[in-house]
Amino acid sequence: MQQTRRRIRRPGTLGALAVITLATLTSASSVLPGSSRSTAGPIATAEESALEPCRLTSTTGVQMSEGVPTPSGYVRSTGEIRALNLMIDFPDAEGAGSALDRFAEFFPQTEQWFATSSYGRLVYRPETPLPGWLRMPMAFSAYGIDRGSPYEPGYRQLVQDIVAATDHRVDFSSYDLVNVLVTPNAGPSALDTVLSVTFSGNHEAPYADGVPLANTSFVYSRQDDGSGTYSETGYRVLPHENGHVFGLPDLYTSEGGGAVGHWDIMSEDWGANNDFLGWHKWKLGWLDNDQIQCAAATGSSEYDLTPLAIKGGRKLVVAPLDSESGYALEVRTRAGNDEAVCKPGVLIYHVKTDVDTGQGPVAVADSDKNSGGCTRRPNVHAELSDAPYRPGETFTDQKNRIRITVLAENANGTYRVRITRS
Ligand SMILES: [Zn+2]
Repeated sequence: MQQTRRRIRRPGTLGALAVITLATLTSASSVLPGSSRSTAGPIATAEESALEPCRLTSTTGVQMSEGVPTPSGYVRSTGEIRALNLMIDFPDAEGAGSALDRFAEFFPQTEQWFATSSYGRLVYRPETPLPGWLRMPMAFSAYGIDRGSPYEPGYRQLVQDIVAATDHRVDFSSYDLVNVLVTPNAGPSALDTVLSVTFSGNHEAPYADGVPLANTSFVYSRQDDGSGTYSETGYRVLPHENGHVFGLPDLYTSEGGGAVGHWDIMSEDWGANNDFLGWHKWKLGWLDNDQIQCAAATGSSEYDLTPLAIKGGRKLVVAPLDSESGYALEVRTRAGNDEAVCKPGVLIYHVKTDVDTGQGPVAVADSDKNSGGCTRRPNVHAELSDAPYRPGETFTDQKNRIRITVLAENANGTYRVRITRS
């Protein structure tokens, strides 16, 4: 039943439209106001040349890519960022109760989620300079907003109306991103259609206080799975949407969450908490280059990996296949933001930087295919829940002549893996 619901709320043809990025404009962003805030991800230095084969690049022609580093135009993903939160309602959907109660559906959990996932590197400061509902001048229905709606014309009108309604009481230039928290009675239930969307890197957005509202997330309805956990899990749509303003693509596809399962919040943002993939943490600058190991050479080599949820240590092994694809390995355990892990071990996944958002840029390798998985939690993709490899298990890609074996789980909680390339 939840599978069906998930498929409905993530329709494939619309999934690719869920994120609008204007990659062609980002190269010109250095002349636009606010561009000093628009870098994200690690930058290569000479002594890190050993990592170069593993720094899978962004490909031109892909709107929103898994490539490292993230192109400019998105929000900086380390240090302190200020998030402007505006709660809006409409003449035909008046906000019930306090607008700050709507805000409290997402905070402080969202800032805590980022603090945990980033090992404290992203300090997320949510602000509500206007604590009441901002009434839009037109009925919600008049904006013509539906799932997959493009920016033009409905969202441009809505953003212009939001700017006008703030009536110069907000200095947009002092914020890094904007969250528009829509009254939950506007539009369909998220159980039927998820409208929540982020427009990121969009420097053609309306300007206010000299800056474009280039990175803006809109959250609608309530992602309530009916299990009674809304107050603990309902906020998770916001870290997902904000993931886009930091340059991350959607990992779910027209098939739903079958490519990555519950191993990244860009794949599944309903139900039990989950984290980002290690690849995303490297891309966001939350892992240092010396926490990444590059398995580019022919032959056999062994690596130790510390669990992703624990601060410090070696986190990721990357085995590149070419300049735009490769395997990544990391250890996932039930800790930190990962509360639904039922088979801890080494997660192996294929990263493809030439595959666009919503088209399957990441695919997790399942150690136990067609097993049905090990979880029964609602809104957690079951089949891939037991995807990690345990000691003694081997992943083989014959075509690319690569074999990955988990050798041991060490007494200190690290895992030892061997990669053989021929
Ligand atoms: Zn998304």
